[in-house]
This record gives sequence, structure tokens and C-alpha cells, in this order.
Amino acid sequence: MTTPRMAPSLAKRFRSGRVSLDFAHTAATDEWIEPELIGDAAGLERWLGHVLRPMRITTATPAGTRDNDDPTTSADLTTIADLTTSARPTDEVTAAHELRGAILRLARILSRDNDVDDLPGVDVETVNRYAASPPPAPRMAVDGTAAATTATVPQALSVLARDAVDLFTGPLAHRIRECEADGCAFLFVDASRPGTRRWCSMERCGNLLKVRKHRSTTTP
Ligand SMILES: [Zn+2]
Repeated sequence: MTTPRMAPSLAKRFRSGRVSLDFAHTAATDEWIEPELIGDAAGLERWLGHVLRPMRITTATPAGTRDNDDPTTSADLTTIADLTTSARPTDEVTAAHELRGAILRLARILSRDNDVDDLPGVDVETVNRYAASPPPAPRMAVDGTAAATTATVPQALSVLARDAVDLFTGPLAHRIRECEADGCAFLFVDASRPGTRRWCSMERCGNLLKVRKHRSTTTP
């Protein structure tokens, strides 16, 4: 797999400070204009791999069906997928969307209300269910560093769900913020000492706002 060349607007999605929130940012939502990144098995492999880098992700997609997006053959692809006994690609994409939606909703609630004590039970249950699966075993290399692991989609989703549990129940749960820049709304964890960070990215959203503010105060 080649590392995707990252446009600044795309890179912005992966600066939340936590893998679970970066994963949430692969979605398309009403709050931000960014497109869906995980629409099929190839997108799942690519973007889960990016969020959890250097982990490599292997989907259960049957060989030969990966890059065929021709709508005229979709019926044939469905038949091929239906014939396989292992998890179908759509099952894994659907599972990723289910976990991602739960993480996104919970993170948004926590970013807006520090003292919430009645989170949606369905979303909590969803995160717990994915966290219950075993994550991939960590590996080390002979040079003493962590070696890249290869994970299945359930293993990768377990890592993301466990990160969400850790974030939502830990001391940084009160530091989950939504970017204040117009049309952004990306989430991030404010790890700054004073806890006054307002933007997901100073280079983009912070500066944009400062430029706008400067113009409004200097324009007669
Ligand atoms: Zn932002």
C-alpha cells in the first residue's frame, strides 16, 4: 500500500490527537463539507491503515473484486460477495460505519457538555461491543522499536473502540473540543496546559479566523 499524498484539507482530518477521533473524521456529516472516505473495502483498508499507521489492515474482501467500481457489474459483484463464506466487504464497511457513528455522537456530546451523565446507551453499547474484540498483539523489532503489525478489520476496530473508551472515561474527556472555525466542526483533544485551544489546526482554522478578525477591525 502506498502512503496517500495528503492535501492540507485532508490532513486536517487526522490532527485530533486521538486515533478514535481521527477515525470519526473519515465520515461525511452535515456539520462539515468533507466527503466520505470509507465507502468500500479499499477505502476501509486505506484509511484505517492511515489512522492507525504504521499498522497495516487486511480486509476480508475477496481477491479480484477490489478495484471494480463499474456500476454495470455491481450485480455480479454482489453475487461473488454473497458466495463467500467469510465476512463480506460490505459487512466490514458497515461495521466500521456503525462504530464510527457511535464514537462521533459520543465525542460531540462530551465536547458540548462536560458533566453529562446520561450518554446514549445504544452508542455506549456499540463502542463496548467493538472494544470487547481482541486487538492485534503488539510486536517488537530487533532494534528495540515497535514493529508494524498487520490487523484484520475487527482487530483494528477494537483498537479504535478501546481508544474511545480510554478517551471518554479518562481525564481528557473534558478536553474534547469542537473547532470554532466556521464550517469546520472537527473534533480535537485540547492537551494544552491552560486548556484554551479553540481550533483543530492553528495553521488553517486559527489563522483563517485571525485574518478575518484582523480585517473586520481594520476595515472602516
Ligand atoms: Zn478546524
